[in-house]
Amino acid sequence: MDKKNIDWENLGFGYIKTDKRYVSQYKNGAWDEGVLTEDDQVVLSECAGVLQYAQTIFEGLKAYTTDDGHIVTFRPDLNGERMEDSARRLEMPVFPKERFVEAVVKTIEANEAFVPPYGSGATLYIRPYMFGSNPVIGVKPADEYQFRVFTTPVGPYFKGGVKPLTICVSDFDRAAPHGTGHIKAGLNYAMSLHAIVSAHKEGYDENMYLDPGSRTKVEETGGANFLFVTKDGTVVTPKSDSILPSITRRSLIYVAEKYLGLKVEEREVLLEEVKDFAECGLCGTAAVISPVGKIVDHGKEICLPSGMSEMGEITKKLYDTLTGIQMGRIEAPEGWIKVIK
Ligand SMILES: *Cc1c(COP(=O)(O)O)cnc(C)c1O
Repeated sequence: MDKKNIDWENLGFGYIKTDKRYVSQYKNGAWDEGVLTEDDQVVLSECAGVLQYAQTIFEGLKAYTTDDGHIVTFRPDLNGERMEDSARRLEMPVFPKERFVEAVVKTIEANEAFVPPYGSGATLYIRPYMFGSNPVIGVKPADEYQFRVFTTPVGPYFKGGVKPLTICVSDFDRAAPHGTGHIKAGLNYAMSLHAIVSAHKEGYDENMYLDPGSRTKVEETGGANFLFVTKDGTVVTPKSDSILPSITRRSLIYVAEKYLGLKVEEREVLLEEVKDFAECGLCGTAAVISPVGKIVDHGKEICLPSGMSEMGEITKKLYDTLTGIQMGRIEAPEGWIKVIK
């Protein structure tokens, strides 16, 4: 298979149209068998449920080339399970996780020429999503849906080296108590746009959202979960019902315990105690972990001892071990790597 003529090392994180995408339609109470198509356009009624009431959910994962030349993806079954949960919460039909994995595999296979080569640092980003497609004007769930998967090659996350982030404690909330913070829905992102644009204007890379009930506990950023490391080397991650259950975070916790022999605590984390941590990182599919160097709470600066020029020592070990597992350099736990070919 000839690869596309793309400057992999210099790719950014943007949309590039690839050859094929997967589409399955839900109508009269059932999903059709699904097809791969070259047509990248979605044509909808002006009154489609997704356009009026934002009935849409998504997932994000990556495919890449390993050390020994296989194309693989990482724990797609967990993305499939999470999308089932998201669908139930927004009264959408469940696209079964087994079919989800099959659709992801087919879409990667059909776009093999866009899977970046090993060592380039680039990956093929995979975006499964689902939305209500028929006209809905009275507020209720749609009756018809589309489940789709497209792919787009994306560049190395840490292009030009690792740069620890500066984040600010936001005055906005990301998720309501008993709301939708724990599902991967477009609506959570729509309402975070004003907060992130405001943070960028003030020179911050990201927002740290607090629990909306008491505004004393750390939740997450707009698109990544927090991992902290204490001065005695314990990995701590916030526990809350309104945090999105990051697959990267769950994998890193396993790596911390089982590969690195570290103590891990999943518990409420007070903003008050953040100043005592040694390291802080943001975890998600895009970066695996991005180190945080500084957290600003209304003018009060918390400078992590790991500093503004490199990853903290344990953050780096976690990063190296998980990326080693993903790239086939370190043996993976059973079931983590789905080999496409
Ligand atoms: C997708 C997402 C994450 C990261 O989840 P991964 O499964 O690790 O990619 C974290 N927070 C939010 C709000 C997200 O939408």
